[in-house]
Amino acid sequence: MTEPISGSKLFNALKDEETIIMACNTRTTVGVVKGIFRAAKELDAVVMMELAKSESDLNGGYTGITPAKYAEETRKYSSEVGFDSWALHADHITMKKGTPEEIEETKKLIAAQVDAGFTSFAIDASFLFNSEGETVEEQLAENIRVTIELAKFIEEKMGDKEFGLECEVGEIGKKDSDGRILTKPEEAVAFVKALEAAGVKPHGIAIANGSAHGNTYDAEGKLIEQVSIDIPQTIKVAEALKGEDSNVRVVQHGITGTPLDLIASKFPKKAIIKGNVGTEWQNVAWSVLEEKEPELYKEIQEWVMEKYGEEAKRKGLKSEVEIFGKYSKKAWKPFYEKVHALKPETVKAIEEKAYSRAKQFFEAFGAVGSGEKVRNYRG
Ligand SMILES: [Zn+2]
Repeated sequence: MTEPISGSKLFNALKDEETIIMACNTRTTVGVVKGIFRAAKELDAVVMMELAKSESDLNGGYTGITPAKYAEETRKYSSEVGFDSWALHADHITMKKGTPEEIEETKKLIAAQVDAGFTSFAIDASFLFNSEGETVEEQLAENIRVTIELAKFIEEKMGDKEFGLECEVGEIGKKDSDGRILTKPEEAVAFVKALEAAGVKPHGIAIANGSAHGNTYDAEGKLIEQVSIDIPQTIKVAEALKGEDSNVRVVQHGITGTPLDLIASKFPKKAIIKGNVGTEWQNVAWSVLEEKEPELYKEIQEWVMEKYGEEAKRKGLKSEVEIFGKYSKKAWKPFYEKVHALKPETVKAIEEKAYSRAKQFFEAFGAVGSGEKVRNYRG
């Protein structure tokens, strides 16, 4: 079996390179994971496989995949492909309240992820933002406290094993009356300094920089490209951190829908260490189902509309396309068995599409050949 390598090795080896590590939230492993690993092997590009707490928890999250199951499936496919330059990452270990109960429950998830062999972790306490705080430190105090407690817990559980660590400052996609709220350079610096003072050394921080998770739609509910990532602000945050002699780089969330040529030509690849691509793989799977297994696709569509149609309309979503695009992630768990019983040619078609999309992303990310850089890294 191919084992995932430590996320810290990927981060450390590539932090000053013109490359972004692609991290893929594969809400189904069927076809998708093998396709991505094949692309990674062909281009010698390192990759992370990841699921967020909402997607995968001890009860399976909304994908129906537990951390143990995800670890088993990703190992299986990497072994089949014969690819070993990858890390297994726990995305968005989200804390929304910061209460002792929530912390205890989250530690159980982390313990299970460590036992399953995860090699990298993202603590997300960005919701714990005190808008009444007068200083940046006061605003971030709860985020800092909870992040430190969970990071120490991961360290304790991992024992002498190294691991990758991502933390989050600024809730991704959050809006106020002026539009999306962006993380300020001084927030990122204060956050990292407070963590480092407590002995917690993240490799990357996720910031709010204008992206949102999922697909992007216009006012009429038509699928459009996402061009809202604020690149100058992202560079400012990264430079502020570098100005403090920090090794912490930016993690870009919510990339799905961003034009590949914009990523290739405009993304600052030394500033951004890791880029998360999630909904893209779901879009790949749905588009193949629509073509190859239209009856099942229709059943999933109807389930989504019946279950979430009203709620979505109340929230102002306009089209069925948008409702499906935003809520179909909830279908993975109830349709788990059916998706795992797809015809072999459907699975193969998903694999091929994931493979060709992954190649395009790796190229846009400047990731071709990053595997060799990681293998040669001694540090
Ligand atoms: Zn994210």
